Amino acid sequence: MIEQKINEFFGDTESTGFGTGWWSGISSAFFGALSFGAVLCLHFPQLLSSPELRSHYPMGTIRVLIQCLILAAILFGIISSILRKKKILGLTGMSLALAAAALGGSSVPINETLHDGPAIGLDWFLLDLFLMSLIYVPIERLWPQYPKQGTFREQWTLDIVYFLSTHLPIQILSLLVLLPATQATKYLAVPSIQQFIGQMPWLLQFFLAVVVADFAEWSIHWALHKVPFLWRFHSIHHSSKALDWIAGSRSHFFDDTLVRGFILVPMMLGFSQNIIVAYLIFVTLHATWTHCNFRPNAKWLEKFLVMPRYHHWHHTSQKEAIDKNFAIHFPWIDKIFGTYYFPDEWPKVYGLDGEEIPNGFIRQTYEPFIKKNKHALKI
Ligand SMILES: [Zn+2]
Ligand SMILES: [Zn+2]
Repeated sequence: MIEQKINEFFGDTESTGFGTGWWSGISSAFFGALSFGAVLCLHFPQLLSSPELRSHYPMGTIRVLIQCLILAAILFGIISSILRKKKILGLTGMSLALAAAALGGSSVPINETLHDGPAIGLDWFLLDLFLMSLIYVPIERLWPQYPKQGTFREQWTLDIVYFLSTHLPIQILSLLVLLPATQATKYLAVPSIQQFIGQMPWLLQFFLAVVVADFAEWSIHWALHKVPFLWRFHSIHHSSKALDWIAGSRSHFFDDTLVRGFILVPMMLGFSQNIIVAYLIFVTLHATWTHCNFRPNAKWLEKFLVMPRYHHWHHTSQKEAIDKNFAIHFPWIDKIFGTYYFPDEWPKVYGLDGEEIPNGFIRQTYEPFIKKNKHALKI
C-alpha cells in the first residue's frame, strides 16, 4: 500500500535508462535524504549516534562527505529536472539538501560532551545504507542476472524497513548478541587454544575464523530449517520472491541474533577481538553480496567460495533444492554434510514453497512467536 503510493508519487511511465533523468533524480533524492539525516545527527549526537561508533569517526572526513552529499544532491537534482518531465525526484532531493544546508550543513559544531547511554543508531543506518548502495547498486545495474528486475522491485520498502530495524536499535541488538556470547566465553574460553591461534600469521587466523564460523553457521542454519519453531522465524528470510542486495536484510531479529550469537561463541573461544571484528565486517559484505542480482561468475572459484548463484539456489522454491546449501562462505561444507546442490544454471523461482507468512513488518515481527505459518492450499 505505502509502497504503491511511493511508487506512484515519485515514478512515471517514462523510460528509466541512463540519460533519462531517472538515475540523477534517484541519486538526488537519496543523497538529499542522507545529508539531511547526517545533519540531524550532528545536531543531536547524544540521541542519534551510536556510542560504539562515535569515537571512531574521523570527523574532518565525515564533514567533507556531508558537504559533498549536499552538493551532489543539488547537482543531480538540477540535471534530473532538466532531463525529466516529472520533476518530483529532483525537487525532493534539492529540497532535502537545501534544508540540510539551512540547518547548518556540515559545519554544525558538536558542543556537548557525549556520554554512553541509550541512543538511536541513525548514523549507522545512514552510513551503512550509503556504503552498501554505493557498492551493490551499480554492480546490480551493470551486470544483473535478471535485468528486468529493477532496484525498486516489489516489496523493496519492506526490505528497507528490515534494514532500518537492524540498524536503529544497534545497541539493543549488539547487547542481545554479545551478552550471551561473552558470558559463555567466560566459562568456555581455552587459553591454550587462544595462544596457539594467536601465534599464527594474521591471514591464516582470519581464514580459520571464517571456517569455524561457517561450520557454526551451517549447524544453526540447518536447525532454523528443520526445527518447526525456528523455521517460523527463518521463513521470513525465505519469503523474498526476487533477490538483490537488500533482500538479504529481510530477516527476523530473533533469527539474526540467534545466528550471530551461535557463530560468536565458538569464535570467542580461540580468536582475538581484532579477528572477530574483521570477520563481522567480512560476513556483512559477503552475505549481502551472495543475495545480489549479479550474473558474472568465476567457475574455478564458485566451488570453493559461495558466489551469488550458490546462495540463490538456497532461496529457490524448486523442490530439488529445498533444504540445501546452508553454508554462507564455503560450499564444500555442504558437501561434507550432504546438503550440496549446485547445477549449472540459475534457479527459476524464488520464495516459499506453498507456505504463507504474515504480511508487513509488524505482523512478521510478533506472529512467529505465537503462530505457525499457514499452508496455502495446493491444487
Ligand atoms: Zn535458509
Ligand atoms: Zn539468504
